This record gives sequence, structure tokens and C-alpha cells, in this order.
Amino acid sequence: MSAGASRELEAILDAAVDPFVACGPDERILQVNAATERLLGWDREQLLGRPVTDLFPSRLHRFHGLSLPRYLLSRRKALGGRPTRVFARRRDGVELLVELAVGAAGMDGQERIVLTMRRLHEVIDSLEEPVEHVAGALDASMHPETADRLYRLLVENAPLGIFHFDRLPVITACNDRFSGLIGTSKRNLVGLNLLTLRDERILTCVRESLAGRPCDYEGTYRALSTGKETPVRIRFAPCYAEDGSVEGGVGIVEDITERRRVEAEREENLAQLDLLFRGAPVGIGFLDTRLRYVRVNETLARLNGIPADAHPGHTLPELLGEAGAIAEQGPRYVLNTGEPLVDQESTSDVDLGIEGPRRCFRGNFYPVRTPDGRVLGVGVLIEDITERRRAEEERAHLYREAQEAIRVRDDFLSIASHELKTPLTPLSLRLATLERRLERGENLDPGVLRHARHQLTRLTGLINDLLDASRIEAGRLALHPEATRFDLLVEHTLASMDGQRGNHTFDFERPPEPISVHGDTYRLEQVLSNLLENALKYSPDGGTIRVRLSLSDDVAVLSVTDPGIGIPEDQQQQLFDRYFRARNASTRSYGGLGLGLYISRDIVERHGGRIWVESVPGRGSTFYVALPTLASERAALPQVWPDRHLH
Ligand code: ADP
Repeated sequence: MSAGASRELEAILDAAVDPFVACGPDERILQVNAATERLLGWDREQLLGRPVTDLFPSRLHRFHGLSLPRYLLSRRKALGGRPTRVFARRRDGVELLVELAVGAAGMDGQERIVLTMRRLHEVIDSLEEPVEHVAGALDASMHPETADRLYRLLVENAPLGIFHFDRLPVITACNDRFSGLIGTSKRNLVGLNLLTLRDERILTCVRESLAGRPCDYEGTYRALSTGKETPVRIRFAPCYAEDGSVEGGVGIVEDITERRRVEAEREENLAQLDLLFRGAPVGIGFLDTRLRYVRVNETLARLNGIPADAHPGHTLPELLGEAGAIAEQGPRYVLNTGEPLVDQESTSDVDLGIEGPRRCFRGNFYPVRTPDGRVLGVGVLIEDITERRRAEEERAHLYREAQEAIRVRDDFLSIASHELKTPLTPLSLRLATLERRLERGENLDPGVLRHARHQLTRLTGLINDLLDASRIEAGRLALHPEATRFDLLVEHTLASMDGQRGNHTFDFERPPEPISVHGDTYRLEQVLSNLLENALKYSPDGGTIRVRLSLSDDVAVLSVTDPGIGIPEDQQQQLFDRYFRARNASTRSYGGLGLGLYISRDIVERHGGRIWVESVPGRGSTFYVALPTLASERAALPQVWPDRHLH
């Protein structure tokens, strides 16, 4: 054959719809057409020279001792030109049912064996009637053929992939959606043997449906041609013949890519919500419409003191008894009214009647509704605000204290300036008098000088008190203790104050024997002077100031009793605080900075002693000082401060 004629023949064969294969006497392929390439997935060049049996499953390679083509040639007469249904094998191994006809021409070396194949595909492809026409035929008396066409129309328009298979099981029909999902043309799919898909789960479903039982498959389909993976769900169901036997099956294929994505997204969202729910520092719970817990998080479980998994199905009173019945009132209100209850604060002891240290809670309760408004239950948010409350109270306390400190400071400043100024006016008057007399050459009156000195002493005393108070605050009030006869010290102090006692009488009851303490003489004298000055100051009408010194269990106890104004009972505790002045000691009637007792307490306590008061308002007061004696084991005196200061 000339090259031109050969090309012409090739073009004619390529134009043919059905696959065509020619081979020589050795059954090796000499020629194929384009339809063969399309059907079996080979390129022409790959097929030329290959044994023709490669186009069939191996079980069909030999028949009664002959190759398949030769066997069919030998049966040609018997077949009378009718084609034979056999499986052809695609390049990827998938089997397709085809109608195969075999012919031969020429002899010996010139012999040519020609195979023609025809795909078995259903008439869905050739549906020609317009949709309206078929749909219009839908009535009770529908002709079976019309119903058949209508069914095919429905299948073809279905949004799901649909395929039918026979008992072999070979795909006998499918819709476009199915071929679209699989990524292969409908022509290639029809006739495909499902057994050759090598997916055990699909085969199980095929077998199940052929046994009359529907079966679901879910998996990822990998397109044979493109390798593209598609998650699919396939519902397999049997198809029955008129006599009721299963004649095949149908597979309904759904592309679940989107559903999987949505599911994955939902699962991720749920997982995140779950994390949030579990880890929330706030107690979260959900009660159903019968106020039984559906779920609680760990925080709420901890607040309730019951494991989280013990909550579901139980009401608050069941779990927490009396306290639960009280706590349930909030959610019950929400259920009855449909209104939320926000920021409800309660305490464990007073509100809920729970014993033990007080805990404070803040609760929010709100109705949980479906999108259409139906109440599903009550959401519960409980926060333990004990620490926050405590901090708030602490802050409020500190604030009050700061306010008080400011008030005390302001009071003190006005008192201190008044106190410091008071001696200055008489002092300046006395000095002016002295100056005048000196100028006139008159005699000086020692009384004027005494008064001037008295005011000066008073001023010095005030300034010393201020200095001492600030030393105490800074922790720098030095003590220089030594063995001291305390009885003599008392006697000496009383004598030194004789000039100040005015109309008062000092009555000192000595101890039967000497009492020695380990103390700072100057500072102990300061304490005693302060007590005596107060006794004189706060007993304005004169009277006897009784001073007692006694020994009790190696402790020297000194008491100073006056018949003065006394101290209101509720203020006796505070007398020894800095700047404190009792309310019955008005600045106008009684001068003073409220520092004397503060300094005295510090001195006494640093000697290992104690100072206290007993008083009846309006009747008088007794101040006590107890000091360990030298003999006492309990003497616990502080070390001498290294930096000596001026007395
Ligand atoms: P002050 O310089 O104000 O007297 P103190 O510290 O010595 O300071 O005394 C503190 C307060 O204690 C006094 O302001 C007074 O209210 C009360 N007080 C002290 N001693 C007596 C007392 N003998 N009788 C009544 N009140 C007293």
C-alpha cells in the first residue's frame, strides 16, 4: 500500500466511532484507531507491536488452548457474525464490558486479524426528547416507556451522581453528574466492571445491594485519569426485576467535599468552644427546663465542690442541699420570666448558709433560646469574687485609714501650732516687763523670771516630745539602760515636780524594800513625769494624786491615780496611739499634743514592760507601769542604740 493510501485508511479508521485493532499472524498489534486509544487509555505508539491479548484480562488470554482472537475466529461460523460480550482491560487495569467481533483476512505471513469493539452504554446518552414533552406525560395512566424516559430525565437532572450496575457487576448506565464526579466520560464508565475497582468497601456495598440490602459507603474517590481525590458518600441500593429478583443495583453518589469542610470547620469551632468552656476562669453551666444540669465546666465544678461529671441530670438542691435550693432561685426566676438576672452577688455564709470561711460569688443567669425563640434552659455564669471583695474591702479600709491619718495630721498641725504659740505670748510679755524694769533701773522681780522660765520649759518639753515621737517613728530613740533604783527614781521625780503640783497633793506609798530595774533613768523619769503631769492636768480641781510602787512576782508595778475627768471607756484602748486625745480633753481646756503616752508606751515596752490604764469617766484614772526587776529572769531589754542622742 502506498504511503498516501495508508494515511487515508488511517484517517478513515480514526473517524470510526468504535475501537478497531488489527494484528498480524503473531497476534501482535499492527494498527489501532483513535477510538481504541480513547477507550483503553493507551497511546497508539505504546500499543503497536504489543500482543493483542494485553487488551484483555489475563483470565481471557487463552481459551480451550487458543488465544482469545483465535478462539473467536474458530467459533465464527457458530456465532454467525454476532459479537461476543467480553471484558476489555484498560491500561490502568479497570475492566470494561465490550462487544467484540473478530475477523481475519489474508493467509500465512499476510494474515491480518481484525478486532472491532463496541462499548456497552445505555440509552441515557441518546435521550433526545425535549424535557417539557416528557414531563407533560406524567400522569397516572403513563405509558411504561414514557415513565422510563421520565425516570431517566430525573436521573440526568439529579444533583447527585447516579449509576446503575447489573449483577456482574458492570455499570450499565450513569448520569453526567456521576461522570463529572469521577472525572471520566460517561462512555468510559458504562461497561466498567466494579469488581476491578479494587476497593474492598465498595465491593462489600455492591455485594450487599445485590443481596437485597442497601449499604452506605463513605470514602475518598481517586480519579483514575487525573488522580484527583474527592470525598464521596455512596448509597448502594438493590434494583428489582419485575419478578422481584435483584437484577442489579444503583449507587447514589454525593460529593461531600463541602460537607466535610463544613463539618471540619464546625468540629474545629466546637473544639475551640470546648477549650474556652473548659479553661474559662468563670464557672459556666447549663440547666435544662427542669433545672437539671446538662453540663458544667471545671471551674463551676470546683466552686460547687463536686466533680463535673457528677452534675449532669441533677438539680442544684440534689447536689448542694439547702444551699442549692437557695442558689436555684436565680435560674428559676429566669425560667419563669424569660428575663436574665445579672450581677447577683451572694455570700456563702449569710446568703447560702454554708459554714466555713466566707466566700463571695457573683452570678449571671440568662435564658438560652433556639433561633426561633424557644427556651432550652438557663445559662449560668458564676464568678468567685472573694479575693476581689477582700481587695476592695482592704482598699476601702486603707482609704479610710489614709483619710483618718490626714485628719489626724491636720488636727495635730492646728493643735501643735496652737500649743507652740501659747507659751510664746506670756514669755514675750514677761521679757518686755523685765526689759522695761531694767531700763527704768527698777528691781527685777524673780517671779517674772520664774514665769518666763516656766514658759520656756513648757516650750522645750513640747519640742522634745515632737523630736522623741519622730525618733520613735524612725526607730531611733536610743536607750541607755543601767541598774537603777526605781523607788528612788520615783521619789526624785516627785520631788522635782513639787513646784508644778499647785493645789494637788502627792501621796507616795513606798515599797517596803528597794526595787531595782535595768533601765534608762532619764527615759523612765520621762515616763513618770508624763503620768504625773497628766494626773495634774486632767484633775483641774486639785485633790490627791496617789503614787504606788509595789513588787509582784519580780515585777515592779507603779501606779498613778488621780481623781480627774477620767477617760471614755471606748477610747481607753487608743490613748497610747500617736496624737490621740480623748474627746473629753478639749484643746481649749487642756493643752497637749497627744504624744506623751505614745512616747511612754514605747519607752516602757522597750524596757520589757507594759503600760495600761483603768479609768471611770468623771471619777478619775489610774495609769499602771509594770517593769521587770533586775532580779527577774524575764528581763528582755533591748540593745543600746549605737548612735547616742542628746537628752
Ligand atoms: P496630752 O499631751 O494630750 O496629754 P498624752 O499622750 O499624755 O497627751 O495623753 C493622751 C490623752 O489621754 C490626753 O489627751 C487625754 O485625753 C488622755 N489622758 C491622759 N492622761 C489622762 C488622765 N490622767 N486623765 C484623763 N485623761 C487622760
